[in-house]
Amino acid sequence: MLSSAGSVPASLGERVHELAAERVRPMVAGEIPLLSVELPEPFRAVFTTRWDSPHLSEARPFDLRDEAGCAARGILAGVLGCLAGGADPDPVLVSPQQVHGVRVAGAAEYMREGTKAPCDGLVVNPGLDAGLAALLVFADCVPVILVGEVDAALVHGGWRGLLDGIVQQGAATMTGPPGLAVIGPSIGPCCYQVDSQLTAGFRRRFGSEIVPREGYLDLWEVATKAAGEVGVARQNVVNPRLCTMCNRDLFFSHRADGAGTGRHGAALWATGV
Ligand SMILES: [Zn+2]
Repeated sequence: MLSSAGSVPASLGERVHELAAERVRPMVAGEIPLLSVELPEPFRAVFTTRWDSPHLSEARPFDLRDEAGCAARGILAGVLGCLAGGADPDPVLVSPQQVHGVRVAGAAEYMREGTKAPCDGLVVNPGLDAGLAALLVFADCVPVILVGEVDAALVHGGWRGLLDGIVQQGAATMTGPPGLAVIGPSIGPCCYQVDSQLTAGFRRRFGSEIVPREGYLDLWEVATKAAGEVGVARQNVVNPRLCTMCNRDLFFSHRADGAGTGRHGAALWATGV
């Protein structure tokens, strides 16, 4: 059953892991149920949920001919403007084509590029990216937000990107080292069944803890270890532990729903700048 627009399913808050509940809170904004992520000022982030219609994207979030996706992004921009208190104009959403690569760009830098090459991570710097909000879309892959003193990054971590170093690349593109990481709704160790070749590759790179049981991979632990490699202590990794496959009434799941499923979003921006 899909959640209806305008209401947060009563159980959404209960499903957020207690260790993340202080920073990741369910709310309704502009009739859209979402998870608001409390970050150090001036940064803000949200994770959207499945909402009735229009979806953030049916398949091609970056395609301006995708009318439903465009309409949803227009609504979302308004929601982000409201969350910022309405003092700023609604931010412009920067939503690149994602290809499971490791390219990360500044939000304004990406907007200036003529080619708009695919990009799986965006950095938001309040000084350079005023008025812009990074938006990446997901259906099982892991959204990872890194927050530092000066700027913050949002990256798209599928297995390929995590193995190839998208989190590390996000940190390297920031001005200074991150001190906080947030992992968004994504497929959990409970459901992410993969072949033995893949688990072997991850085990070699990240150690045996990322294989919770044979045939399964813990991408949350991979993201946590990757964040650790760039200086984020484990206790500063916020993970609501929301598995998209277990919670497919709230989130899109490529594994559960098939290739034609929609996408929920993660948005990151700076307010009051
Ligand atoms: Zn699960």
